[in-house]
Amino acid sequence: LFITVEGPDGAGKTSVLNELYPRLQFASEKEIIKTREPGGGKIAEKIRALILDPVYEEMDDRTEALLYAAARRQHVIDVISPALNKGQVILCDRFVDSSIAYQGAGRRIGIKEVAQINQFATEGLTPDFTLYLDVDSDTGLHRIQHSRGYQVDRLESEGLEFHQRVRHAYLKIAEQNSARVHKIDARMGLQDVVDQSFRAIITTYPN
Ligand code: C5P
Ligand code: MG
Repeated sequence: LFITVEGPDGAGKTSVLNELYPRLQFASEKEIIKTREPGGGKIAEKIRALILDPVYEEMDDRTEALLYAAARRQHVIDVISPALNKGQVILCDRFVDSSIAYQGAGRRIGIKEVAQINQFATEGLTPDFTLYLDVDSDTGLHRIQHSRGYQVDRLESEGLEFHQRVRHAYLKIAEQNSARVHKIDARMGLQDVVDQSFRAIITTYPN
């Protein structure tokens, strides 16, 4: 079982996952592996550091998209596929939908182009279930700017319109893949988002 969690910056993915993961593990007999993108493995984490380092602000958009796809490829090979083959549950922070939204729409490379390189990278591996934590860009950016004790990374510092394109693409993905993507209103308080996320997964996959 392959579950992904998606959302724009400031949706609260990290906080939600930190609470959701132990609850799911407690409720399930199967082993649950929590992992994240970009990263989730030795090589992929190295690529993550390269992409997110503010020093490389001149990085070309397509280079960035290819690096995300490369990190994803290695992550699939090192972590995701082996776990799925053992019957474990993967709970992954971001996957291909992030690239469609951020590189395809945010960077304006194009949905089709980004989908293609990711098809190559994943050989078509698709999540069984995706939680989409939806937040409007104003709220999301406000949360990033006011709640982070550390400097925002290169991509979080993009302007409002970039983040609006990202969110719009996510909404479209959710609409067009309604069997896979479960949308949750992430403007609610953390506990409500965690509760709804937990219930959505448990009702779909009772074991
Ligand atoms: O999910 P997390 O906040 O750790 O992601 C790190 C940064 O990478 C975020 O600022 C996010 O906007 C960006 N990102 C991106 N394209 C992706 C995945 C993440 O721009 N495909
Ligand atoms: Mg973030």
